[in-house]
Amino acid sequence: MPTTAGTGSEVGRASVLTNSRTHVKKIIFHPKILPSVVICDPELTIGMPAMITVGTGMDALAHCLEAYCSPHYHPFSQGIALEGMRLVNENLPRVVADGSDIEARAHMMSAAAMGAIAFQKGLGAIHALSHPIGSVYNTHHGLTNAVVMPAVLRFNRPAIEDRLAAAARYLAIGDSFDDFLDHVLRLRADLGVPDKLAELGAGRDRIKELAAMAAEDPSCGGNPLPLDAQNLARLFEECI
Ligand SMILES: [Zn+2]
Repeated sequence: MPTTAGTGSEVGRASVLTNSRTHVKKIIFHPKILPSVVICDPELTIGMPAMITVGTGMDALAHCLEAYCSPHYHPFSQGIALEGMRLVNENLPRVVADGSDIEARAHMMSAAAMGAIAFQKGLGAIHALSHPIGSVYNTHHGLTNAVVMPAVLRFNRPAIEDRLAAAARYLAIGDSFDDFLDHVLRLRADLGVPDKLAELGAGRDRIKELAAMAAEDPSCGGNPLPLDAQNLARLFEECI
């Protein structure tokens, strides 16, 4: 029974564990982690504080967006990811403005489950950057994703330009990659998401270590362009 609308863990077969001694997040995958029964009741999310609503909601967007951009072949996930992005786009501002909007809360709960179904296709650099930042600086996962999202879109641009132009048309926010990126930047600003990781407490002093951790993250495998410690370090530099 999820009480937030973001992770989509209720439909996932993965579990994330943080080793509190080494500050490393490890992901365990097993079919038996998938719950046999799920109750998604948006009433349970009514009391969620605004910043948790924003962070978890942006996590749902990140799941749909990274799944949608992942180069792996999975047309079912592709469709689910696209509709999930539309639901977040239209309903996240509504639930942040009015936490008791049960209809918008229900759409966000659907979008969260859809994001985690879609990301069976793959995640990418947003999550690869976010996992080490979250474990080293104890930041909120979804909020961290929202901060790094524009830099990752710019980095992946050569591989996802057409795909994001199509998404912009479906979301009715324009018809190009730039329209999609501008929209993400506007959405983040409207929801009060910080622009840089420095505002979440991350510093340049640990970039090398963070990049090495990110390069080991299984999310790297779903990114549209190849990731390594060098380009991940440059992404951290830009995001911080
Ligand atoms: Zn996530």
